[in-house]
Amino acid sequence: MKKLLFEMGRPGRKGYSLPQLDVPDRSVDELLPAKMQRKAPLDMPELSEGEVIRHYTELSTRNHGVDSGFYPLGSCTMKYNPKVNEEVAGMPGFALVHPLQDQSTIQGALELLYKTEKELKEVTGMDRLTFQPVAGAHGELTGLMVIQAYHRAKGEERTKVLVPDSAHGTNPATATMAGYDVVQIPSNEQGLVDVKALKEALDEKVAALMLTNPNTLGLFEEEILEISKAVHEVGGLLYYDGANLNAIMGYARPGDMGFDVVHLNLHKTFATPHGSGGPGSGPIGVKEKLTPFLPVPLVEKDGADYYLNYELPQSIGKVHGFYGNFGVVVKAYTYLRMMGKEGLKQASADAVLNANYLMERLKKTYYLPYDRVCKHEFVLSAREQKKKGAGAGDIAKALLDYGYHPPTVYFPLIVEDALMVEPTETEGKETLDGFASTMEEIAEAINKDPEKIKSAPHTTVVGRLNEVKAAREPRLRWKRDDLK
Ligand SMILES: *Cc1c(COP(=O)(O)O)cnc(C)c1O
Repeated sequence: MKKLLFEMGRPGRKGYSLPQLDVPDRSVDELLPAKMQRKAPLDMPELSEGEVIRHYTELSTRNHGVDSGFYPLGSCTMKYNPKVNEEVAGMPGFALVHPLQDQSTIQGALELLYKTEKELKEVTGMDRLTFQPVAGAHGELTGLMVIQAYHRAKGEERTKVLVPDSAHGTNPATATMAGYDVVQIPSNEQGLVDVKALKEALDEKVAALMLTNPNTLGLFEEEILEISKAVHEVGGLLYYDGANLNAIMGYARPGDMGFDVVHLNLHKTFATPHGSGGPGSGPIGVKEKLTPFLPVPLVEKDGADYYLNYELPQSIGKVHGFYGNFGVVVKAYTYLRMMGKEGLKQASADAVLNANYLMERLKKTYYLPYDRVCKHEFVLSAREQKKKGAGAGDIAKALLDYGYHPPTVYFPLIVEDALMVEPTETEGKETLDGFASTMEEIAEAINKDPEKIKSAPHTTVVGRLNEVKAAREPRLRWKRDDLK
């Protein structure tokens, strides 16, 4: 077992060396009133700088990231993520501005927000964007609040939001949080929205349909124009979950498909690394008729000057402090400018090509329930392997032994023992072939001895964890007394 810093510390060791003091040494009593001073000595480990650095460096290698290996975590994976973005976002002019500075001193930052909005309007086919939401789910909530405000402004109280059964879990969760009743729409045998069932669910109580296109099976909803027409006919709006825009960007636009609101995950598609909860950015774009309801402020341009517009009387208000996670927008802008129009198209094309390549190879070993050309991802079923004794979860654990991050498992729910694979645009053929060989090897191992796969992983820092116990009885706090 690796020792904690508390166990490694020895009294008197120091992690720093300071130069001789060349100003008067003022006592604590001079600086802090007695009643504000700590009485008991501070119980902290004492270590040398080298010991601390080694400790944390070693810990950092225990995690799997896109910088350490293949990471095909369907839907939620990180797409192309160039390091130059970090450099730009770290420039003092961007990193050190304060949101309360006078507008005349942050013209560059405002210009960047304005220009990123312009680029993303082009990519999505929307009329206005706000960067305030800081996650995809946060964008969904903001979008539904805007939709609600729009209907209310027309004197309508609509109560339902339609969500396909293949939707990302955040969609029904968000609709519920926004106060709507969720109506689930089934998929047909091709894995697409059952248009007949959708039409039967449509009435004047429907506020919106939330849709991902391509859906989470990686399949493009070919009836999208008919779907959007039908929803609009009853006065409902269309919400596009654009978390994974690398499936279509440069080729198709939500705005042209009839969508009224779209959220993007800048921390998936537009080059900000994600994980551990942040920082993210889930901007939403809306059509003209919804712009009066967007959060304040919007960034506007007057002649050569950029300014913040708070004059939106029908705005839903603010959904986050200031302008959202500005640093993430800097990275997205850098990415957009580095890639250019052709580069974005190339990213989508590569993402789709990689997914289809891998799908064609893996469907020989794993059951592919919806066998059609996919977009950025595809969903296999481990049902045959499960019959032999080891299912999707076991395969995911076994992949860890080979140094791969597993695909998303058990989602979408409409596929039994789902393995949702998204290779992304960044991987080369050798990586894809290596992963496919490993998946084949695991399937072969299940044929021979499923118990071996059921007890994986065998080579990681910790073995198989009890996930239920971890969720039901989380121990989130470590107490110093635990050592004694
Ligand atoms: C990741 C994802 C979301 C949610 O984004 P968060 O930033 O994690 O809140 C929503 N929809 C889809 C399809 C996603 O892949």
